[in-house]
Amino acid sequence: MAGITVFESVAAMREAVAGWHAAGEKVALVPTMGALHEGHIALVTEAQRHAQRVIVSIFVNPTQFAPHEDFKKYPRTFDDDCAKLVAAKADAVFFPPVEAMYPAGFATRVLLLGPAAVGLEDRFRPTHFEGVATICCKLFTQSRADYAVFGEKDYQQLKVVTRMAADLDLGITIVPLATLREDDGLAMSSRNRYLSPEHRALAPVLHRVMQELAAKLRNRDDLFKAVADAQNAIITAGFELDYLEARHAETLAPVTSLADGPIRLLLAARIGATRLIDNIAV
Ligand code: AMP
Repeated sequence: MAGITVFESVAAMREAVAGWHAAGEKVALVPTMGALHEGHIALVTEAQRHAQRVIVSIFVNPTQFAPHEDFKKYPRTFDDDCAKLVAAKADAVFFPPVEAMYPAGFATRVLLLGPAAVGLEDRFRPTHFEGVATICCKLFTQSRADYAVFGEKDYQQLKVVTRMAADLDLGITIVPLATLREDDGLAMSSRNRYLSPEHRALAPVLHRVMQELAAKLRNRDDLFKAVADAQNAIITAGFELDYLEARHAETLAPVTSLADGPIRLLLAARIGATRLIDNIAV
């Protein structure tokens, strides 16, 4: 059915990885929740630049969704995903059942400080990153991969996972990849398929407004006014804005001027029932 090796247990994955390592090959992991698009495939291609073997994990992780979020209706397109991974020449898929990742009695979470605790996503999804970090920690130790590739699309997540891997000596190198976008600038996302045609037409406003804001900041316009104007432009366009902020690109600490260091603009906005996030460098 799948046309690609599918590991459903940790033991099966570890056995294959041990064989690859014994043959002197490096292994890269690409963690995903499935519903794969070109952005995910770009992660596979990037992984292939670092390692001879690439495993893509597909796991819709319940602990990173709050009770009111879209865990149940998150798109699940396993056969389609496998076809895309065959075309991308990935070596294997790790597709564990929920009970294998969270067996009865599971009682551990990774507690995060630093970039996970500076607001942004954390303000709106307070238990999200502990769920992400816990599952990533498990995936890294389960797979014993040498590399894991993450998209800048989820910029705060990238910083959280990079910090955790270093702090816990997980022995894995986190490789970042720039965000893939549609031709009109909308960041590719599995959640874009929720958008009605009308909302899909509006969605590129987010990237456009961030680009204009970045240009203003590079031009040394007043940061507070420029950010406030950009926030208003998004709200006026019809979005409910969770946040649009200028932060230090590495620590994610708030910044007050261009002199505070490399700046990243990060936003989350809702349209209809869909929540979109994006970010760009200044
Ligand atoms: P997801 O399955 O969408 O939660 O994400 C799995 C991985 O794909 C994460 O590392 C994301 O940052 C990455 N990703 C998602 N969308 C994109 C995109 N448009 N460009 C690059 N990476 C992406």
